[in-house]
Amino acid sequence: MLIDRTVLVNPCHAVPEGFRNAIELVSIPEEEGFSVCLEAETARAFLALQDFLGKTGLPVFPLSGYRSSARQQEIWDRSVHDHGLEHTVRYLAKPGFSEHETGLALDVVLYDRHGNRIENDEAPEYEIMFPHLHEFGFILRYPRGQESVTGYSYEPWHIRYVGIQAAKVIHENHWTLEEFKKMENRP
Ligand SMILES: [Zn+2]
Repeated sequence: MLIDRTVLVNPCHAVPEGFRNAIELVSIPEEEGFSVCLEAETARAFLALQDFLGKTGLPVFPLSGYRSSARQQEIWDRSVHDHGLEHTVRYLAKPGFSEHETGLALDVVLYDRHGNRIENDEAPEYEIMFPHLHEFGFILRYPRGQESVTGYSYEPWHIRYVGIQAAKVIHENHWTLEEFKKMENRP
């Protein structure tokens, strides 16, 4: 099975059957010495992005990468318990419908110049990262103001690998992945 790294996974599109078995997962280190699993090409691209941003003075680390649907179920159940269903639906994907199950998406954590972990979604450090994502084949998957298209609230930390070619097209047209796939499928 040839894997499509622009695969669309959202509340209406489940992770395609067989996708998990088609990808090769590799692990890369996260900040505290644990590791995060990602699809192999995604992992290589992220390490290049991390290296580049590190050299510009912006430390970035992976926080969460590949998750099995069983793991997604656990996270879902805990969130419903802790925050309620309404909050959970806005921020979490149902098991089987999470990009994290493709190995192509990851959540990152950034640090400011004082070495403090950035918790604020509006932090200027994100603005340093965003313009470079496409150069490494990534897109910001849930941009601000696109909630009605993507089905998710703004998530500055969730990046998605689609490959350099697709990322460039998406970046230049200010599209979401949903819009890119729609244009791609147009006859
Ligand atoms: Zn995420």
